[in-house]
Amino acid sequence: MTTAHRHAGPDPTHDLEARTQEHYEWLAAEADKNLDRLEAQDPVHDVTLDDVLKRRGLSRRDFLKMSAVMTATLGLPPMFDLRVARAQEVATRLPVIWQELQSCSGNSMALIRNANPGTDELLLDLISLEYAEILMAPSGQAAEDVLADAIERYDGQYIAVFEGSVPVAEDGGYLTIGPTGETGVHKVEHISKHAAAVIAAGTCSAYGGIPAARPNPTTAMGVADFLGQRGIGTPVVNLPACPVSSTNVVGTILEYAMFGRLPSLDAYGRPLWAYQDRIHDKCERRGHFDAGEFVEGWTDIEGLKAGLCLFKVGCKGPMAYNNCGVVRYNEGASWPIMAGHGCIGCSEPGFWDTLTPFEVPLAGRVYATPFGTDADADTIGTVALGAAAAGVAIHAGATAVKAATESRSDAKKEQ
Ligand code: SF4
Repeated sequence: MTTAHRHAGPDPTHDLEARTQEHYEWLAAEADKNLDRLEAQDPVHDVTLDDVLKRRGLSRRDFLKMSAVMTATLGLPPMFDLRVARAQEVATRLPVIWQELQSCSGNSMALIRNANPGTDELLLDLISLEYAEILMAPSGQAAEDVLADAIERYDGQYIAVFEGSVPVAEDGGYLTIGPTGETGVHKVEHISKHAAAVIAAGTCSAYGGIPAARPNPTTAMGVADFLGQRGIGTPVVNLPACPVSSTNVVGTILEYAMFGRLPSLDAYGRPLWAYQDRIHDKCERRGHFDAGEFVEGWTDIEGLKAGLCLFKVGCKGPMAYNNCGVVRYNEGASWPIMAGHGCIGCSEPGFWDTLTPFEVPLAGRVYATPFGTDADADTIGTVALGAAAAGVAIHAGATAVKAATESRSDAKKEQ
């Protein structure tokens, strides 16, 4: 997997925890400048925030509360609450084109299937979603005409969101779209060349996903890799997960509206605010891991009922980076680990080959993380599996792994 880090953004402090008050003041001034610039533009469509709130039965106070939650999710302090709210208001100036590729459309479904109106749904109403096959009324040639018109009208201004991988084998012939049979390859090239920025939504779009699993007959790949090969320099942000969290899509669009650029990214092109921590570090079962209390197998009903750690039944949370445990899915109702299945590492490049089989721990294999080679993907396993009855030993193992991770992280900071 050779996913390039294509765009780091100009924010010089990539370590969110190291940001100072002075840095936040600089960021706030950047946001104000960009929001003023956007506000001075004509809206792309005539929907207003007040219309949307009224239709959804929400008050301004509700809206401000939701904006404050989103500010915290983006890793920003409360001085940004009103700026995040303003970013939603000016989102009517942001044209978005959403193109399906080799995908199951699960990411679109995750975005639109919210039980209650939240920031996610509000933004869907506010941005100018010029083209999205799943959501729009026109089909066939009429839909193609809408797309061509949007690309021409908003040349260089729109955000392109891709869902699904790009199958490049056979001249792209494994994916044809629309009445003219245009290939996915050609669509991605054309839409990306004219976009201001690209969002790769979901793991297939970010890294190839399940379609890229060995032997990968269609030569499926992620959008950033594909654009890199074709020499197309439009900045790309990867938002992996299967499906991507709607919060991470909305947060990225809001950050773009606020700062006029994509967020700071990690080595795999993912926004740091969403992907800098391991699943394991924010997991509600972590206390059981540290205490050496594990679900011993799928027939261990008592362990499952007690919510013990899922490491021994294959949880890849120690090797996976995402904010799933914080933002969860379906309006924050649940997420896989809460529902009783270990993390499968679906936000990681190559997870379909490198983290399988899913329901057993990685045995004796070294796994690369954004912070270097995780020499101890299996130290955790060795300690945990060999010492089920010795919580102290497991705790020591976990501490050693934590120390190793911290020292890698320190080494990285010093580079
Ligand atoms: S191994 Fe999995 S279930 Fe256990 S604490 Fe880590 S992330 Fe949570």
